[in-house]
Amino acid sequence: MGFVILSLGCPTSNVHTGLFSSIAAHPVNALLEVGMKGTINTDNRLMSGVSQTSELLALVEHLNWGWKQIAAVTLNAIDAGFGDESRRRSRYRG
Ligand SMILES: [Zn+2]
Repeated sequence: MGFVILSLGCPTSNVHTGLFSSIAAHPVNALLEVGMKGTINTDNRLMSGVSQTSELLALVEHLNWGWKQIAAVTLNAIDAGFGDESRRRSRYRG
């Protein structure tokens, strides 16, 4: 892997813990716009009552995400996985 992938955030958890005042105020779009390679995560599904799907939908609703952003963070997550690299990449990039 030729780049660093980091968690851009766990939007609902980041709001619940007071890091940002709302999902709309989350800086994830700015981070993506400057070219950061990152993922979106749930952090604590039990305490925040979220799923990976609901976190992505929250970004669609509050930060105007579309398939472009969802695909980018999903492909980054595949790149960052722990499994065999050639097997992971063969699932989406041949
Ligand atoms: Zn987190």
